[in-house]
Amino acid sequence: MNRSKIVVVEDEPDIVEVISYNLKREGYNVLSADRGDEGLNLIRNEAPDLVILDLMLPGMDGLSVCRQMKSDPIVRDVPVIIVSAKGEESDIVIGLEIGADDYLTKPFAPRELLARVKAVLRRGGIKEHQTSERIAIQNLVIDTVRHEVRVNDSPVELTATEFKLLHQLASQPGRAFTREQLLNRVVGLGVVVVDRNIDVHIRAVRKKLGEASGLVQTIRGVGYRMIDA
Ligand code: CA
Repeated sequence: MNRSKIVVVEDEPDIVEVISYNLKREGYNVLSADRGDEGLNLIRNEAPDLVILDLMLPGMDGLSVCRQMKSDPIVRDVPVIIVSAKGEESDIVIGLEIGADDYLTKPFAPRELLARVKAVLRRGGIKEHQTSERIAIQNLVIDTVRHEVRVNDSPVELTATEFKLLHQLASQPGRAFTREQLLNRVVGLGVVVVDRNIDVHIRAVRKKLGEASGLVQTIRGVGYRMIDA
């Protein structure tokens, strides 16, 4: 039995029902609020393992709830999955930049919801700039100690920027990163990025990855993520 506690902040009853039903069926302990301000109180009182947060909410909008959470030491590390309507890509970008972990666009399939929830909970303890010595995703292997990337066991030559970019994505599979986040993190690691256009670097990485190029996914209007598998 899975007893992770999840708070759902959403004002559309049908969506709350779909989310609650599916999460409860998987054994999660689900609590919900239909206003942003009430949701924030619930989150502070319950300190859940995960928050599923709608953006357009009465009382307080989702981005404000997320901001408040991230400035509160008690709940700042609680992961957040934003739930947005179609066409709210710019809000998703802001949400990810202020600390949300992932997002879902309505309408979503229960399967997609559960996959996101499981991935975020699994990553739960992993913090930014996590460095493990070896990351393997399908036929891609990244050796961070030797600065080596292999696809189907053949070495792939990447520039320093490309390597950091790929490593950043791969260190948190399934997590959506905005272009700005990727750029900041790569620059933050001390790499001199001559071309600040992330898309150009991603294109180069994909080309070099060949068969494994599909592991780096484009999220339209948002950014990139590494496949979670
Ligand atoms: Ca709403």
